[in-house]
Amino acid sequence: VGKEQREFDYFALALQWPGTICSSTRHCCAVNGCCRKEPLHTFTIHGLWPDYDDGTWPSCCRHTSFDMDKITPLKPTLDKYWPSLYCSSSSTCFSGRGPFWAHEWEKHGTCSAPAVREELQYFSTALDLYFKYNVTEMLATGDILVSNGKEYALSDVIDTIKHAFGGSPQIICKKGSVQELRLCFTKDLKPRDCLTTSAMYKNLSKSKHCPRKISLPTYDPI
Ligand code: 5GP
Ligand code: 5GP
Repeated sequence: VGKEQREFDYFALALQWPGTICSSTRHCCAVNGCCRKEPLHTFTIHGLWPDYDDGTWPSCCRHTSFDMDKITPLKPTLDKYWPSLYCSSSSTCFSGRGPFWAHEWEKHGTCSAPAVREELQYFSTALDLYFKYNVTEMLATGDILVSNGKEYALSDVIDTIKHAFGGSPQIICKKGSVQELRLCFTKDLKPRDCLTTSAMYKNLSKSKHCPRKISLPTYDPI
């Protein structure tokens, strides 16, 4: 932790599905997360992650504490599209406090050089990619819609994203529901395949593998 690592190979934009995560979060903890009053039927951001082609990744690379003053103009957008859906506080690498996305900067953002070096650039890059490649819309164009109980073939979900995005996604499940979907990018931010070989599963526990049929449950406010 905290030491310089070799340069990463590609970026993954990790998105999370509130309908799945909020249904297993016992308490509502954040008004912009699982306690919100309005339905939340879109993926939200988990993080922008530098990864290696062998399925591993660097973390907590440079001792650069999160600094809120550097990203003031982006804060409302980050609060809205990058909410914490968990109740646990995020253990940051360096500063030890701050919102979920501050933790993501310290753990992953500090390893994103030379493609992304600064905090403001890290967050604006993540938001740009998130808005440019709207996964929820891509799925809707393939008739894959948010709905309780409805199941879709995993292969259809993957093919729909491949077609619309131009690269194969990585999908993480929890009890047959989509928990997370990752889009991958070259270092100059062009769509590419995520790891689809055994390297992809190297660090993924069996329970997170998706079955052949998966669902995208609704998030309904409590
Ligand atoms: P989990 O065990 O929940 O899948 O992952 C825990 C944490 O490990 C994630 O929140 C993330 O910080 C890190 N992590 C898991 N998988 C990957 C990955 O493929 N790439 C990177 N860069 N980090 C990951
Ligand atoms: P990662 O492991 O991605 O680097 O970060 C996950 C850390 O952030 C964990 O400590 C987890 O408890 C905390 N966390 C807070 N909110 C969220 C959230 O909405 N999603 C995930 N995956 N982790 C969250």
